[in-house]
Amino acid sequence: MAELRGILFDMDGVVVRQRLDFLAIKREIFGDTDGYILERMATLAAAERARAEEILERHETVAALGAEPMDGIREFLAWMQTGGLRSGLVTRNSRKSVGLVLDRLGLHFDAIVTREDAPPKPAPDPVWLACTRMGLGPSEVVFVGDFEFDMLAGRRAGTRTVLLRSGVILSSEYADLIVDTLGHLKNSLAAGWGNGPLGPRRAAGEAAEDGS
Ligand SMILES: [Mg+2]
Repeated sequence: MAELRGILFDMDGVVVRQRLDFLAIKREIFGDTDGYILERMATLAAAERARAEEILERHETVAALGAEPMDGIREFLAWMQTGGLRSGLVTRNSRKSVGLVLDRLGLHFDAIVTREDAPPKPAPDPVWLACTRMGLGPSEVVFVGDFEFDMLAGRRAGTRTVLLRSGVILSSEYADLIVDTLGHLKNSLAAGWGNGPLGPRRAAGEAAEDGS
């Protein structure tokens, strides 16, 4: 039986709100708005990739300087600390932009995994790395995100998954719990959700990645 000992967070839309215009970024890098940025950048030749990274970093820096904490995140992190729960961040953003955001807002996490550290979500690798850095196994961890990639990465890694409906998607077949606010999540956890063995869950198959 696994006891809940840590919570991992996606950054954008869960810990902070920031204005990253993915369509504008794609237009500037690729000249169109198809697909996903990191996956497309991985196919570029070195010089083009360097240019793309520069563009992405510039947009991320601007967004980071305007980032605002999500409703309830400070209270949630304080509650975690009181309860002895470890905290981690798993994001597709750069280390530089994450550092800017967290320093500006005075937010702290025990483990931080950015796109420089591991293949990006929806791969399970960054979730595993964050668990390792927290000193916990995936079954002791809940992963909170606002996008299908978060649910997929968490499910593949073997964590429990929580979808915070902050505006990106409203449901996911890979979410073990769906909440509308961090306050709702705190209430569910305080009532015991997240402890005990994992029930039967739908496996996150490769087919779900279609379109990425
Ligand atoms: Mg997000």
